[in-house]
Amino acid sequence: MAKPANSDTERTQHLIRLLQLYERAVTLQATRPRAQQAQVTLDQDQIRRVADELQNLITELDIDGQAGSQLLDIRRQLLTDVSPATVVSLTLTALRLILDATHAERLASQQFLAQVNDDLVSISQQNTRAFDHATQLRMAHQSVDQRLDRTITDIEHELSLKGTSESNPEAALTRALDALNVIAKENDALKTREQALEEQLSHNQNQLSTLAEHTMDQRRHVGDQERKRLLDPLTRVYNRAALNDRLEHEFRLWKKYQRPFCLAVIDIDHFKQVNQQFGYEVGDKALKIVARTIYQCLRDTDFIARFGGEEFVILLPDANDDTRTEILANISHTIRKLPLKFKNERVAITVSIGATLFSGQDTPTPVLERADQALYQAKNSGRNQIIWC
Ligand code: GH3
Ligand code: MG
Ligand code: MG
Repeated sequence: MAKPANSDTERTQHLIRLLQLYERAVTLQATRPRAQQAQVTLDQDQIRRVADELQNLITELDIDGQAGSQLLDIRRQLLTDVSPATVVSLTLTALRLILDATHAERLASQQFLAQVNDDLVSISQQNTRAFDHATQLRMAHQSVDQRLDRTITDIEHELSLKGTSESNPEAALTRALDALNVIAKENDALKTREQALEEQLSHNQNQLSTLAEHTMDQRRHVGDQERKRLLDPLTRVYNRAALNDRLEHEFRLWKKYQRPFCLAVIDIDHFKQVNQQFGYEVGDKALKIVARTIYQCLRDTDFIARFGGEEFVILLPDANDDTRTEILANISHTIRKLPLKFKNERVAITVSIGATLFSGQDTPTPVLERADQALYQAKNSGRNQIIWC
């Protein structure tokens, strides 16, 4: 998969989109009291659209912890209450939550880097000290060796004088013994210092291992964040950010190899009614099951992303006529036959699918638009069907 876009840039784009939604909601709220009846209906449609977009935007965000659950609450409220005042206030709350979460994430990573820096400075200082210590020890060893050499030379000299008038074995022995005593004491002292150096080195080693473990933890954490950034939190299939990356990648492969590349948009039919009839919890569960079902109908090389509320996009690279027809028919059929029940009442789910192939000078944007038009036709001609465009 191509390298995902920088998450900071993405977060900024989310914030800009939120601000735009906020502006639209505030404008709608401000014009509402003066509106005529026809205008009220129009406004209601527009505020519904703002609410849906805000809901989609929250779906795309990957915020952990308390802020994450508060955002999910906002999403839930948007599914039920969409008065202009609520939308304005919820958009503002979402903005604050995202800003706070972004700030907290940045602070945490800054703290981690500061800690790594402190640890590295401390390890480097200790290493310098250990190096000095080792140099001093080497010099001390050299001095002991030299003294030992001198003592040996003295003894050899005494032996060479044996039988001559200059020979004085007693004095020579005493000198040698004195020298050996001093050397033995120095050796003991050196051993103690060597032990201290070993401890210092082992302490440094431990500090380095701890630091390596912390950086590994951080790498795992960043990896988890990265994976989460690309996953839709509700359905656990990929999100729009991941789709953009993958679409770009598959598009480049298609341009190079010209293997048949199919893109399809799948939208659940009358999903609003499912929510209204059975409640949003059931709606959420149905969304998860539909996502998993589509995923299970795909090949390993295919791709699925949640594109919006109850809409999914699938990419079928290198899919010949038979393969793509079979995959789409299987998705449609399997979802229709899903044994979904709520309090013994069957929850019937069908999907409409708009599908198209990359061709000629196509780029991803017009292909997505074409699939969307095909979906529109499928909806307008009775739903629960697949239309190719
Ligand atoms: P159509 O057949 O024309 O697609 O009708 P529809 O009702 O499915 O389409 P519409 O776009 O009017 O409404 C989509 C609904 O999907 C609105 C919203 O309540 C619901 N929805 C979007 N996201 C979620 C979600 O995350 N959970 C639940 N439970 N419902 C959602
Ligand atoms: Mg729908
Ligand atoms: Mg839809």
